Amino acid sequence: MAVSDHVDLSTFMEGVKKRNPGQTEFVQAVQEVSQDVFEFIDDKEEYHEAQILRRIAEPDRVVSFRVCWEDDNHNIRVQRGWRVQNNNAIGPYKGGIRFHPTVTESILKFLAFEQTFKNSLTGLPMGGAKGGSNFNPSGKSDSEVMRFCQSFMTELYRHIGPDTDVPAGDIGVGSREIGYMFGQYKRITNRWEGVLTGKAIEYGGSQMRPEATGYGAVYFLQNMLQHAGEDIEGKTALISGSGNVATHAAEKITQLGGKVLTMSDSDGFVHDPDGIDQEKIDWIKRLKNERRGRISEYVDHFTDATFHQGKRPWNVSADLALPCATQNELNEDEAKALVTDGVIAVSEGANMPTTLEGVKVFQDAKIMYGPGKAANAGGVAVSGLEMSQNSERISWNQEKLGDMLTNLMEDIHDKCVEYGEEGKRDGQPSINYVKGANIAGFKKVADAMLAFGVV
Ligand code: NDP
Repeated sequence: MAVSDHVDLSTFMEGVKKRNPGQTEFVQAVQEVSQDVFEFIDDKEEYHEAQILRRIAEPDRVVSFRVCWEDDNHNIRVQRGWRVQNNNAIGPYKGGIRFHPTVTESILKFLAFEQTFKNSLTGLPMGGAKGGSNFNPSGKSDSEVMRFCQSFMTELYRHIGPDTDVPAGDIGVGSREIGYMFGQYKRITNRWEGVLTGKAIEYGGSQMRPEATGYGAVYFLQNMLQHAGEDIEGKTALISGSGNVATHAAEKITQLGGKVLTMSDSDGFVHDPDGIDQEKIDWIKRLKNERRGRISEYVDHFTDATFHQGKRPWNVSADLALPCATQNELNEDEAKALVTDGVIAVSEGANMPTTLEGVKVFQDAKIMYGPGKAANAGGVAVSGLEMSQNSERISWNQEKLGDMLTNLMEDIHDKCVEYGEEGKRDGQPSINYVKGANIAGFKKVADAMLAFGVV
């Protein structure tokens, strides 16, 4: 007779904490998923016997390596690189690469864990992984970034492959960095293959990939609003960040008739009461992607706006909020301020931007809250479609991919509704999107693992 792991949630979490000392972000992510999954598997002994949750919360492997490179002044610099391959039950490992000084093993483990459920939710055959380095691309010359990317790939290439693990971009890794890494992979292996996604169109990239995460987060928001009989048109929105996800979320909100009031970077946020329209968004894209400047420069050009040094935008009053910068950027007090100011829906473009306490505030207030693993899954979904196009040596057009993205986000929303219906709000069934996403994401991975036996 098998020994069941039918322990309670707090005993399970004690074990996770003990096995991962000091890895607070990873423990936070496991806690957030486990509280819903425990409820779901309570009467499903097969998942307990096979210790499925415990196995998903232990990465398949964590590869850590030295990345040595030379700066423009001929100093030798040493960084640490990682690839965390969390779970490949339903497809090759897939997940972004992050270059940022705050990157740690804990952050990459949390991101790889989350990615496992997110990728499952897309319905596409992709497992979960994440990688990166504590390298800071800010202020580095193009040549320095190139040398770093080449050195990073010189180790990473042996752990990845089109049927093994397919990395993509994330914070600090855009099309420039993907280009340098793809070039190095091709040079080392002498193979052109779809080993990275987020590539430029000229060498196998997909239409819609740059837009997919931000647009997808807005489609998810629109699906939540429409499910409750509301719409984006005429509503005001707060957005944090000014990178890939934030600028495309702003673009789609604007196209759907909403008004974006704020954007930010790690120095602070800008508040533009006239609305950040397409012309201003294009200006921000040039500022960030070409001049690599700071968001504070916005107020020199658009003088009705104000810059708030060292602050985050969540105390500005608005109908909608889209955190699109980084993890834990929206805390309990900020969540309370948003609710008090009448926010009706939150859609997370970033990964785990709201703290556990903040999430509880949104859930208690029964506002519509779309967690990152569902709301920002559009990016990896189009990455999955980039993999398909590369394998088949074809490329689909913008219109086809736009329709596919819209449908994928609708499907993800429907899965969350299926597993997340709970209680009432204003007399209507209320959806716990966190629970819906966690359970739908878990079930597919867990059932595949059951089929494999003990491996
Ligand atoms: P970018 O590097 O393009 O932009 C990141 C933005 O967030 C920048 O404005 C940056 O400001 C800001 N930021 C980064 N760290 C901090 C911090 N510690 N405090 C405040 N602001 C910060 O990244 P992306 O737009 O690609 O990614 C944003 C989020 O979306 C991340 O959580 C990422 O994991 C998630 N995501 C991204 C996907 C994608 O397709 N790109 C897919 C799914 C999720 P600064 O310039 O000052 O650093």
